[in-house]
Amino acid sequence: VVAAVRVLEDDPSTNAGTGAATTSAGTLELDACVMDGASGGSGAVAALPPFRHPIDVARAVLRDGRYHLLCGEGAARFADAAGFAPADPSEMAVARDRGDAGDTVGAVALDRDGGLAAATSTGGLPGKLPGRVGDTPIVGAGTHATTRAACSCTGDGEAFARACAAFWATEHPGGVAEVAEAAVARVRDDFGGLGGLILVDHEGGFAVARSSAHLPHGSVVGDDPVRVGT
Ligand code: ASP
Repeated sequence: VVAAVRVLEDDPSTNAGTGAATTSAGTLELDACVMDGASGGSGAVAALPPFRHPIDVARAVLRDGRYHLLCGEGAARFADAAGFAPADPSEMAVARDRGDAGDTVGAVALDRDGGLAAATSTGGLPGKLPGRVGDTPIVGAGTHATTRAACSCTGDGEAFARACAAFWATEHPGGVAEVAEAAVARVRDDFGGLGGLILVDHEGGFAVARSSAHLPHGSVVGDDPVRVGT
């Protein structure tokens, strides 16, 4: 999941890593989280100043093991100490002349040993106040993985966080397709937020659900061709 998210962070058309949305002050504050369902371990960064791959810093937080979330300057100091080089903000900021902020990126996976994992990375809401943190780096809100299922969310972060959307989706009994649809409907109807999520379970069931206009995604099983959707 980290490798998939890293590739998407490098894609300037997405709202993560290079090309991430800027704050109202014109700065980059990046959020990312990774969770390993088998161990229950997680690592996350919030309001991280420019580093090329926030998801790698999140994984370093997971591997370090002392904390689940580091934010702001403290996260940057941790990243420095872990050997990550700060990025040049001008190289990561992408001019967006169509008001198109791109999309948050995420990945969920079931490996051949039955392990589940989820990862999500974002620049957050375009024009957000500096210091605002959404659902993405919060375990159970925008990202969650257990031994049963793994989920990554995108959309109105305040609503997804209040709904504990990723936790709800991974814990709720039922087939992935119904659960994913129900989770997105719950965020919309009970918390007033639009967006979507990807969900995989321990049997390899995979679902995408959205209340937003689109949610470009791809899925792959073993060596089969990648299947894409909108
Ligand atoms: N959920 C993200 C946030 O609120 C934004 C998004 O997914 O577009 O920060």
